[in-house]
Amino acid sequence: MTKPIDVTEIFGSNVFNDRVMKERLPKDTYRALKRTIQEGLPLSLDVANVVASAMRDWAIEKGATHYTHWFQPLTGRTAEKHDSFISPTEDGSVIMEFSGQQLTQGEPDASSLPNGGLRSTFEARGYTAWDCTSPAFLKTDASGNVTLCIPTAFCSYTSEALDKKTPLLRSMEAVSKQAVRVLKALGNKTSKRVTSTVGPEQEYFLIDKSCYEQRLDLIVSGRTLFGAPAPKGQELEDQYFGAIKDRIAAFMRDLDIELWKMGISSKTKHHEVAPAQYEMAPIFSTTNIAADHNQLVMETMQRVALRHDLVCLLHEKPFAGMNGSGKHNNWSLMTDDGINLFEPGRTPAENEQFLIFVSAVIMAVDRHAEKLRASCGNPGNDLRLGANEAPPTIISIFMGDEFTGILKGIASGKKVASHGQNFLQVGVDSLPQLPKDNTDRNRTSPFAFTGNKFEFRMVGSSASISGPNIVMNTIAAEALDEIATRLEKAGKSNRNKEAAAIVRDAMKKHGRIIFNGNNYSDEWIAEARKRELPNIRGGVEALAAMATPDAVRLFEKYKVLSRGELRSRHEIYLEGYIKHVNIEAQASVQMVKKQYLPAVIKFTEELAGAITRLKAAGSAAKVQKELLGKVTELLESSSEKLAALETSIVKAHHVEDLEKRAMTFRDKVVPSANALRKDIDALEEILPSRLWPVPSYADMLFKL
Ligand code: ADP
Ligand code: MG
Repeated sequence: MTKPIDVTEIFGSNVFNDRVMKERLPKDTYRALKRTIQEGLPLSLDVANVVASAMRDWAIEKGATHYTHWFQPLTGRTAEKHDSFISPTEDGSVIMEFSGQQLTQGEPDASSLPNGGLRSTFEARGYTAWDCTSPAFLKTDASGNVTLCIPTAFCSYTSEALDKKTPLLRSMEAVSKQAVRVLKALGNKTSKRVTSTVGPEQEYFLIDKSCYEQRLDLIVSGRTLFGAPAPKGQELEDQYFGAIKDRIAAFMRDLDIELWKMGISSKTKHHEVAPAQYEMAPIFSTTNIAADHNQLVMETMQRVALRHDLVCLLHEKPFAGMNGSGKHNNWSLMTDDGINLFEPGRTPAENEQFLIFVSAVIMAVDRHAEKLRASCGNPGNDLRLGANEAPPTIISIFMGDEFTGILKGIASGKKVASHGQNFLQVGVDSLPQLPKDNTDRNRTSPFAFTGNKFEFRMVGSSASISGPNIVMNTIAAEALDEIATRLEKAGKSNRNKEAAAIVRDAMKKHGRIIFNGNNYSDEWIAEARKRELPNIRGGVEALAAMATPDAVRLFEKYKVLSRGELRSRHEIYLEGYIKHVNIEAQASVQMVKKQYLPAVIKFTEELAGAITRLKAAGSAAKVQKELLGKVTELLESSSEKLAALETSIVKAHHVEDLEKRAMTFRDKVVPSANALRKDIDALEEILPSRLWPVPSYADMLFKL
């Protein structure tokens, strides 16, 4: 039995949070730092020095020996380089030092991180800069090492962003500025800032470590590249919300404790639809902190799993034929005085603020659906989107019948009354209890209004949430900018009329993006085509939307990403796609050559020997002969497909143009690998288990 835990005691115990700052910083230092955090005012070096020394004392008391500037390069993961606090003294001993300069700025060499041409090697400097809006924290590992982690932005000598945090912070500024203008024009006199908030739900799989270690595909690519289906899958729907087994519960408890210590508000956990699939959701926070925390969640899940002899798979589609994993990105806008701008209240039909902000989202998502789609394009998501209970590749918004009725009513000039009590429960809690029918009906939508926030479900489970939120904030900023200008022009006296006109125009021009029906149906695909909504199947084509002149115009206008930054990202993501597919293809080749074919050949030898012996004993060995014939046929076919795959990889690498090369990997290499998989999976169904060289789907999914 484990000891009971005091959650309030451990929560945030490894965070240099507001409470610690209040306790340990002189009053004026605390006030100056708070101003920087809340209002973005520059921080003086004097203040930074005082903060650094308090931070150092606190960290050392907690056992830290090192600090690191923790940042988020374009790999989609995090990066850290540890420095100890030691500084030599004249008498040959050391003291522990940490200056304001060291806190606020770093220069990790980091030249091997992807930069897409933004850093030429002769000027390969990269700088990290302290992001004081996301609190510093301590990371502890199993052997007791404690490291002070300082969230930082990472940029080049020429101030170009080399990371995911910098543009996210810029996009938060952009949306705040425009939202405040709209609020002012609507008569709000109290709100000074608007923050985009996110609660990302994280789906994942857990499998036994011994299974994982026997599968090269899982080790190098995070998903199974082969595997015949298990006799049971998810068809009984008995896993979803099912009781959590002790071994998994023990993992989840440890995970919660680790996350709580780092101030991550892990809130819900449950069994997901597929066997061995689970989900955790934190309580929402600012987009910036949510993005940092989500990285820590993914990392901690993987680390804690190993302690339990489990491996956590974050891939979007670890098992063919099963549900994939996503990351539901719940997004909203919140004022500094606590108003959720998507809160419909009891009478949404009369709630001008709500209607205006919802209209902005409708305008933004319809105009820039392709950019949102691009922000979710990764090789794993190519396998997930449009399959087993995952959103399709068409973006549409679910508003629900109630709200759609209100919006349509305004658009057609009719007055619609609100159905008061339907909304009574909405927004009273930080995790609102929605009317049941509302949540049931929107399960298939890629972008659903869920009471007081929008849930973007296309995001892949392994991806950083920064990309999608950079796009979301920027496209919302543009729509709000346009709305603010209209309201400002109309002036106070014409405000109500203009607000109604804004909703009407949004519905007329962009109402096609609203779809409340079943997004998984074929009818919707046909209907979406009629509405001329983009349906971009693959991640490679999707990425192109972030490199168009329109993308440059938009992201430059709101100072989120420059032309150069967009171009470098496009290049990095295309290269990333190629590398991923190549790794998978190479792993397929190796597994077939070194594991599957030798096993199949061994089986044919066994069969041939048995046939000879049986014939000598006077038996016709009919069944054995038939089986040998079938296995030999598949063996020949698979070795031909293996050769074809190898050729396709070589050819694809020779394509000069980067975009065309990525396309070739997708159109030639991926199908070749799939064809090979088909034969191998057919062989798995025939061969005796004792000869099959790797754990089966049933071993991995059900033997926990
Ligand atoms: P469901 O599974 O029904 O989608 P969950 O409770 O799993 O619900 O997740 C809902 C997520 O939405 C949580 O992370 C929650 O904190 C988040 N959320 C709630 N309100 C907001 C908001 N105003 N802004 C952003 N996220 C929010
Ligand atoms: Mg959800």
